[in-house]
Amino acid sequence: MIEIKLAVLPGDGIGQEVVGAALDVLKSAGERWNVRLVTEAVDAGAARFARSGVVYTEEDFALCRAADAILLGALGLPDGLHADGTEAGPDLQFRLRFDLDLYAGVRPVRRYPGIPGPLATTRPFGFTIIRENTEGLYASRGGGAGVAGTVSTDTLIVTARGTDRIARFAFDYALSHPPAAGQPTVTCVDKANVLRSYAFFRSRFDGVAAEYAGQVDTRRVYVDAFCAQMVLDPASVHVAVAENMFGDIISDLAAGLVGSLGLAPSADIGDRHGVFQPSHGSAPTIAGKDEANPVATILSAAMMLDWLAQRTASGAIEGMALDIRAAVDQAVADKATRTHDVGGTSGMRGCAEAVIAHLGGPEATVPAVAGAAGAQA
Ligand code: NAD
Repeated sequence: MIEIKLAVLPGDGIGQEVVGAALDVLKSAGERWNVRLVTEAVDAGAARFARSGVVYTEEDFALCRAADAILLGALGLPDGLHADGTEAGPDLQFRLRFDLDLYAGVRPVRRYPGIPGPLATTRPFGFTIIRENTEGLYASRGGGAGVAGTVSTDTLIVTARGTDRIARFAFDYALSHPPAAGQPTVTCVDKANVLRSYAFFRSRFDGVAAEYAGQVDTRRVYVDAFCAQMVLDPASVHVAVAENMFGDIISDLAAGLVGSLGLAPSADIGDRHGVFQPSHGSAPTIAGKDEANPVATILSAAMMLDWLAQRTASGAIEGMALDIRAAVDQAVADKATRTHDVGGTSGMRGCAEAVIAHLGGPEATVPAVAGAAGAQA
């Protein structure tokens, strides 16, 4: 039996609920695929900060670093603030990103047939935003300057090393997750026409692009135009790579286009560590009401299994990921088992239970579900 040592950070608000649901799915799938999950919970975030003035401890960070992978719900509540006005809850998330060097934020979206939303009438599409996670504007967090209470600055940081490696990650990802039709394409999303830092980002992208000439098509689009492109012609996007803050923003727009943040998984990946979490936050207004959509977290758990399968060359872990995705497809296809945010009638628990009920295990025919993985992984 294969064993996975998982650090679990449910965090705040709906994070607690959706992580509980994802763990139930993981455990059920694990039983079928002979994969044992050993979980260690970490109490971190804004609720802990409100109770004790502490967001997390060094022991918590060490536990995360020692785990095979980290599953996270959501960290932060709007009223849990540091003295400088920034939120305290996400502190551990930033620490993990920077100290574990989780430089690639991988955010796939996929439009499921039948889900209401602004683009419900377009043909199905799926694309992936690759967000640079350790540089850009957010690298200034806690380090900006304030002058005499009247001026505040943060600095946008772009390095050759950081840009080259995220560009390479995006090209490799495009090759390993080809589109349903046509040539893999990577779009560089920036604001090179205005800021030197983004012009530099683009020039480094161009350098890496040359290494993939003939294998991957490339485009360069300013972030404002890219927002319009995502809305007007989402099927034209395959993989897009962007600086940290732009990647954060365009990936939420992408999630909105497919109907809900509750459908959008994400992974923060480095060369040795990975944090897997939904793209959404703690959604405090729906917390504790059984209303949250658990799909983003369940699909994030599937991304975690993909990543672990690659690292361990385990067919069972890979099969588990395929099985979970196929089960999610079935649960989301049925109005009675999808949640209200995506036009369904189910609560969160009902949706998670439906996913579990649809798990097929190794006996189910894997080729029948393989197509479902391409758009999500
Ligand atoms: P949010 O993602 O929590 O919510 C935005 C909207 O989407 C709300 O209307 C919410 O109800 C809805 N929504 C989100 N997830 C949903 C789900 N699973 N099912 C159904 N509806 C869902 O964003 P916000 O309101 O800007 O932030 C709330 C808190 O979460 C803040 O404290 C913020 O800092 C934090 N946050 C944390 C993370 C993270 O941990 N990675 C990410 C974003 C925001």
